[in-house]
Amino acid sequence: MIYLDYSATTPVDARVLEAMTPYFTASFGNPSSVHRFGQGAEAAVESARETVARVLNCRADEIIFTSCGSESDNLAIRGAAYAMREKTGAKWILASRAEHPAVTKTLLHLEKYDGFLIEWLDVDDRGRVAPEVVSKAICDNTALVSVMHANNEIGTINPVRDIAEICRANQILFHTDAVQAAAYLPIDVQELGVDMMSLGAHKFYGPKGVGALYVRKGTPLVSHLTGGGQEFGLRAGTQNVPYIVGFAEALRLTHEEREGRIAHVKPLRDKIIGTVLEAIPDSRLTGDMESRLPQHASFVFKDVDGNLLLTLLDAAGFACSSGSACKTGNPEPSDVMNAIGLSRDWGLGSLRVTLGIGTTAEHVESFLSVLPSLVEKARHLK
Ligand SMILES: *Cc1c(COP(=O)(O)O)cnc(C)c1O
Repeated sequence: MIYLDYSATTPVDARVLEAMTPYFTASFGNPSSVHRFGQGAEAAVESARETVARVLNCRADEIIFTSCGSESDNLAIRGAAYAMREKTGAKWILASRAEHPAVTKTLLHLEKYDGFLIEWLDVDDRGRVAPEVVSKAICDNTALVSVMHANNEIGTINPVRDIAEICRANQILFHTDAVQAAAYLPIDVQELGVDMMSLGAHKFYGPKGVGALYVRKGTPLVSHLTGGGQEFGLRAGTQNVPYIVGFAEALRLTHEEREGRIAHVKPLRDKIIGTVLEAIPDSRLTGDMESRLPQHASFVFKDVDGNLLLTLLDAAGFACSSGSACKTGNPEPSDVMNAIGLSRDWGLGSLRVTLGIGTTAEHVESFLSVLPSLVEKARHLK
C-alpha cells in the first residue's frame, strides 16, 4: 500500500516520538503542581513554548497550546468575535468561501446561536482571495477577518501578508488557519503580520490531538474552555505534556529541514501534475500552479465519481483523497469545488494526491502507471 495522502495526516517522526516518550512515564507530573514532579512537567511545556515561539518569531506568552488545529480555529474565531463585540459592538465577520470546516462551521454556529453576521468572501477560479476583495468588504462594523494561509483541498496559497496589512490599516483583527501551510511555508508571524494563526502538529509529522494558536499580545480574546488558569487563562485543562513536547519537536524539525523536504517532494509533485494533465482526457488541475503547496497535486476529472475513483485506487494499493478527509461519503461537490466555480459534472470528480518524506520516485511511477486506466474505469462505471 502506497500512502499519497500526507495532507490528511502524516506519520509521527521517530525523533518526535523519542522526545515525547519520557513524558508519559518518568516525567508524568502535572505542570500546575508545586512539587518537583510538577516543576519538571512545567519546564517541558515552557521549553516547548519557547521552541515554537522561536520558529514563529514571537514571544513565548503569545503561544496557546490546544488539542488540535480545529480547536485553535474555534478559539481564535469565537474568542475574538465575543471579545470584539463586547469591546466595540462590532458583529460582522469576513471569511473566504474556501475555508476548512473548522472555520466555516464555527462561523455558521456564531451566526445561528450568537447573532453574528458573516460575509463570505469570493475566491477566484484558483481558490485565491484577492486582497481587494477584503478591503472592499471591510466596514466600521467588522470584528474579524479569517482567511486561510494554504488550502487543504487544492493547495492554493493565499496572499496572507497583503490581507493582514489591509486589516491592520483598518484596525481589524486578522486570523489565518495555517494548519496546512506550516508543513512547508515559513510561518514568521511578524513577516506575515497576522494577529492570530492556527497550527496542528499531525500535518507536519507530529502527533494527532495537539495544536497551537498564536495570539499577538494585546489581541482581545475570550476563553472558550473555562476552568483552571492554564495557558494564560485562555484554555483551561491540564496540559497534554508529551503531545506539547511532540508538537514543538515536530515544528522545530520542520523548520530546520524545510528546504530539503521541499526539494524532495516538489519534482515528484510536478511529475504527477504534468503526466496527469497530459495522459488523462478531460482532466484539470484545481488550484493555482504557481502559488501552491509543494507537496500538493489536485485535479478534477469530468464525469467521474471521485469516491468511486478513491475506492478503485485503494484496491490497487494507493491511498489518496478527494479533497478534505472530512468530506468522504458526501455525494455533493465540496464547498471549495463550488467556490472555485466548478459545475457538478467536474466538481464531483476531484482527486487529491499529496506527498511527503516517505514518497519515492518509484511510488510516483507506479501511481502514474495505473491512474489513467482507473479514471477510465470510473467513467464507465458511473
Ligand atoms: C487538518 C486541518 C484542520 C484541522 O486540524 P485538526 O488538527 O485535524 O483539527 C484545519 N484547517 C486546515 C486547513 C487543515 O488542513
